[in-house]
Amino acid sequence: MRRTRAGSRPPRMIVFDLDDTLAPSKSPVDPSVAVLLYRLLGRASVCIISGGRFEQFRDQVLAALPTTPRLLNLHVMPTCGTRYHRWDGAQWALEYAEDLDADQKQRAVAVLSEGADVLGLSRAHTWGPVLEDRGSQITFSALGQQAPVGEKRAWDPTGSKREQLRRYAAERLPDLEVRSGGSTSVDVTRAGIDKAYGIRRLCERNGLQLSDLLFVGDRLDPGGNDYPVRALGVECVAVTGWEDTRAWVAGLLARLPVLPEAEDIPSEPAVTGSL
Ligand SMILES: [Mg+2]
Repeated sequence: MRRTRAGSRPPRMIVFDLDDTLAPSKSPVDPSVAVLLYRLLGRASVCIISGGRFEQFRDQVLAALPTTPRLLNLHVMPTCGTRYHRWDGAQWALEYAEDLDADQKQRAVAVLSEGADVLGLSRAHTWGPVLEDRGSQITFSALGQQAPVGEKRAWDPTGSKREQLRRYAAERLPDLEVRSGGSTSVDVTRAGIDKAYGIRRLCERNGLQLSDLLFVGDRLDPGGNDYPVRALGVECVAVTGWEDTRAWVAGLLARLPVLPEAEDIPSEPAVTGSL
């Protein structure tokens, strides 16, 4: 179900979730979505926030956008806003990173590898490293970071192995957050980090109020990873997937005037595919 803005005042910034809102999970955006997003950047400030790493933003969305000054209107918040990137005219510069400290990382790595051994989850053969330091997050991937999707799906179809390791680590890392992530992974981050955290940081950095934002996400239901944003009181639009978002953005574009500074940027590429 969608909620519409009560007033006619347009939002100062439109914030999108990434996976299953702008793009299929872990996959690039459809070219038509890239075009609509680029058009939107000529009309409004846009933020994309996700639990994923910057590299996922780059591969899924940023690489598909033309590099013009319009990118100055895009705010990129990987790992739920513990990192913040802005376009500086040449690259996606890191504005800040709130990483785990050395002691937190060391304890997370020790507990996860010990837990995997104790619970019999360690494997002789893996595809790439099992433990990865992502700066703001330590990730355990049972089969390795590059494991084939089929192998990953078959490893823990009920989620019970991940849950055992999650519980083992959570008991031993009470000051940190331990979550089961993808189909074979358990993530350790600082406690209290969710999209609401990132949204508050976004407002602080840009002098915005929560009422200046409009958030678009596919998991606004209680228990969904977008729900903390709704709980914070931000105006939200619920979508059912990227095609639904595409239709919503197309409708929004018709209502927003082009920003003066975007008018002189020529040649908006044509939208391919049906809307
Ligand atoms: Mg999502």
